[in-house]
Amino acid sequence: MPDCLFCGIAAGEIPATIVSANSQTIAFRDINPQAPVHVLVIPRAHHSNLAELGAAGDDLLSGLVAHAREVAIAEGVADSGYRVVFNTGPQAGQTVDHVHAHVLGGRPMAWPPG
Ligand code: AMP
Ligand code: ZN
Repeated sequence: MPDCLFCGIAAGEIPATIVSANSQTIAFRDINPQAPVHVLVIPRAHHSNLAELGAAGDDLLSGLVAHAREVAIAEGVADSGYRVVFNTGPQAGQTVDHVHAHVLGGRPMAWPPG
């Protein structure tokens, strides 16, 4: 997937502010943060969206969610509350076709989302 931005970050070829990483997943700060805490968590392996990651049938999805939880704890928002968002498809506003969890926190979150 040479044209994939987040594959490039996973490979270390495109710079990013890494928060934490393990053998399967990487967390890095969103370049255009929408909240005081805005971290993206991605699998190193390329899957286009949440549906494809879930359909892959391995442990990556649970590992991704576990990493999102670790980020929330490390960023100090686990107790105050935070939102985990997987935009999926054009109408949901997905702009990068490499599945990513947004971990957002540090301010009150409106509902319903825009
Ligand atoms: P989405 O719109 O849900 O696909 O989210 C894509 C996110 O990636 C947006 O919040 C962007 O701000 C973020 N983003 C795009 N390019 C970069 C980058 N080079 N480093 C970090 N975050 C990025
Ligand atoms: Zn990719």
